[in-house]
Amino acid sequence: MALGNLSAVVEQAKSGFSERFGGNPEVVAAAPGRVNLIGEHTDYNGGYVFPAAIDRFVVVAGRRTQGPSRLVSLEPSAGEAEPFRAADLYRKEVRGWAAYAAGVAWVLQQEGFEDVPDVEAVVASNVPLGSGVSSSAALELAFGKLYDALGRYQLSNKELALYGQRCENRFVGVNCGIMDQMASAMGVADSAIFLDTVTLDIDPCPLPDGISIVLCDTRKPRQLSASQYNERRSQCEAAAKALGLELLRDATLEMLEGARDALDPVVFRRAWHVVTENARCLEFREALKAGDSDLCGWLLRDSHLTLRDDYEVSCRELNVMSEAANAAPGCIGARMTGAGFGGACVALVRIEALGDFVNKASAEYVKRAGREGAFLVCRAVDGARVVESSL
Ligand code: ADP
Ligand code: MG
Repeated sequence: MALGNLSAVVEQAKSGFSERFGGNPEVVAAAPGRVNLIGEHTDYNGGYVFPAAIDRFVVVAGRRTQGPSRLVSLEPSAGEAEPFRAADLYRKEVRGWAAYAAGVAWVLQQEGFEDVPDVEAVVASNVPLGSGVSSSAALELAFGKLYDALGRYQLSNKELALYGQRCENRFVGVNCGIMDQMASAMGVADSAIFLDTVTLDIDPCPLPDGISIVLCDTRKPRQLSASQYNERRSQCEAAAKALGLELLRDATLEMLEGARDALDPVVFRRAWHVVTENARCLEFREALKAGDSDLCGWLLRDSHLTLRDDYEVSCRELNVMSEAANAAPGCIGARMTGAGFGGACVALVRIEALGDFVNKASAEYVKRAGREGAFLVCRAVDGARVVESSL
């Protein structure tokens, strides 16, 4: 139940830098991970999402170098990074995790910045890898801030978010939407970020006082396969087409009801989740603005139900975890978060009940799921930033 601590990660990155490269970094940059509170499987339908940046950070300490870029991660599972030359990225593929950094340099060059420097840099992080809190976007944004500071490009965090996504889509080769990078870039302390995935308009909404975000990990690896994901996407496209729309974001419940007989029943249920989920994002925003925690809770639970029954991307472990969390003391509401078939639930929990909440929810989860869960207590924080600079 350890809390995030940015300064500890910054110190690790700086001392790692001195040990490995000698002297001091010129720039230390940090970018947070994120949790999506509501708005699941809406992004590729052009809909709304509602993430919060959390107090788990990827920190990079870096300095210009004449030699090739040499990157070190203190995360043991990340492995050695291949050296690369920033000027050679058009010709050379970069393998492993260094691609997330090299890809950002590659995008900057595409955007016309010809002087993207080679760097020696050390990465320290307390964002768990592959646990659904988007360590990859945090890594991209941390390097985005590093390059931006070293090159004095004065790019906005929103631009860096778009560059991070392009890096991941085109250089790393992962077909992600824009939510992760926007959350890491545009996070606001103690707030969740309402995001329109088409216009990229954001509306940071303060979370109720005295509330923590708890990530309740089922410890069952995410298993939504590419084929299941693609099937959901094409079902959404079929529903939109039948409604005469390009994207389901523009569908209303009345339109969907009107087309019920014309739609395949499975396609109808998929669209039902997306359309109601999108509406729930709008209601969640109103509920936060009105300070209506009860309504927030209802919306989170409803989201889980349509993901489970209509979109059919939940699994036994996620169902047990969300029931255990919703029944535990201090819980305002909980639901599965992320693509599904494993991964984590997100819960909003009253701070004074955190200890009881974790004890009860974890005991109930072990009893019913037959395996241990893991609980990450988070606070919403500001987005990517330069922490120190000697420039
Ligand atoms: P998620 O973004 O949900 O955490 P991904 O599979 O998208 O999961 O990204 C995880 C990848 O990001 C890792 O396999 C690694 O390549 C890279 N990564 C994340 N954090 C670090 C880190 N601290 N050091 C090195 N690479 C990292
Ligand atoms: Mg990722």
